[in-house]
Amino acid sequence: MIEIKNISKSFGKNNILKGIDLSINKGEVVVILGPSGSGKSTFLRCLNFLERADTGEISIDQTKVEFNKAKSKEILALRRKTAMVFQQYDLFHHKSAIENIVEGLIIARKIPKHKAYEIGMDLLDKVGLKEKRDAYPHQLSGGQQQRIGIARALALTPEVILFDEPTSALDPELVGETLDVIKKVAQTGVTMIIVTHEMSFAYEIADRVIFMEDGVIVEEGTPKEVFEQTREERTKQFLARFAYATR
Ligand code: ADP
Ligand code: MG
Repeated sequence: MIEIKNISKSFGKNNILKGIDLSINKGEVVVILGPSGSGKSTFLRCLNFLERADTGEISIDQTKVEFNKAKSKEILALRRKTAMVFQQYDLFHHKSAIENIVEGLIIARKIPKHKAYEIGMDLLDKVGLKEKRDAYPHQLSGGQQQRIGIARALALTPEVILFDEPTSALDPELVGETLDVIKKVAQTGVTMIIVTHEMSFAYEIADRVIFMEDGVIVEEGTPKEVFEQTREERTKQFLARFAYATR
């Protein structure tokens, strides 16, 4: 169970997040939709302390952290419980696929090398890239790199994985394979918050859809509720722009 209360964040005079509350159950997949500039990335970055929120707190299981007061030890503890997958996954270029995945296990988790490689091979299998074990990032397509990034996030068994538009930097023909991997991971019961503009994917994968605009949650519900029984005018207008992409 993850409980987020009253996150706000300003950059200078710009109030970007205006008091966001969100509770997420274990294993739940929450998809966040919203126009560009509405604060979606800032929200995810605050959860992971890549940005320091001005107010609010987060509890993950027993760990409760106040954003504006957290000390580095608490931040580290919280970071251990979260993993972020960015638009473009930043793999280590001089390390192979498997080395990228096991790095955190060996260095941060102090897991013996042979055991880490076992876990790594399992994860490579999960993301469908077993045969790419020794390939370097430049030898992989964008979609494959993104899948290695997902395997790397999974390796550290976080309580929640945060995805920030994981396919928006990919060539269109590589989007499907990446979304399929995310779907597969979701089915294994990993808690996820996903920011995406892929509407049919959102419809399929989400337990809950949140529409965010201008730093507030405008509407939330099941995919059916948000996509088909939309209540708020602002959500309707946003979704209308994607009408061709939904079913
Ligand atoms: P989204 O991900 O929904 O497109 P963002 O969270 O990236 O939105 O950005 C929301 C707003 O916050 C934008 O106006 C953006 O310019 C601003 N912003 C984001 N990061 C910073 C920053 N580090 N410094 C100043 N302004 C920022
Ligand atoms: Mg963004």
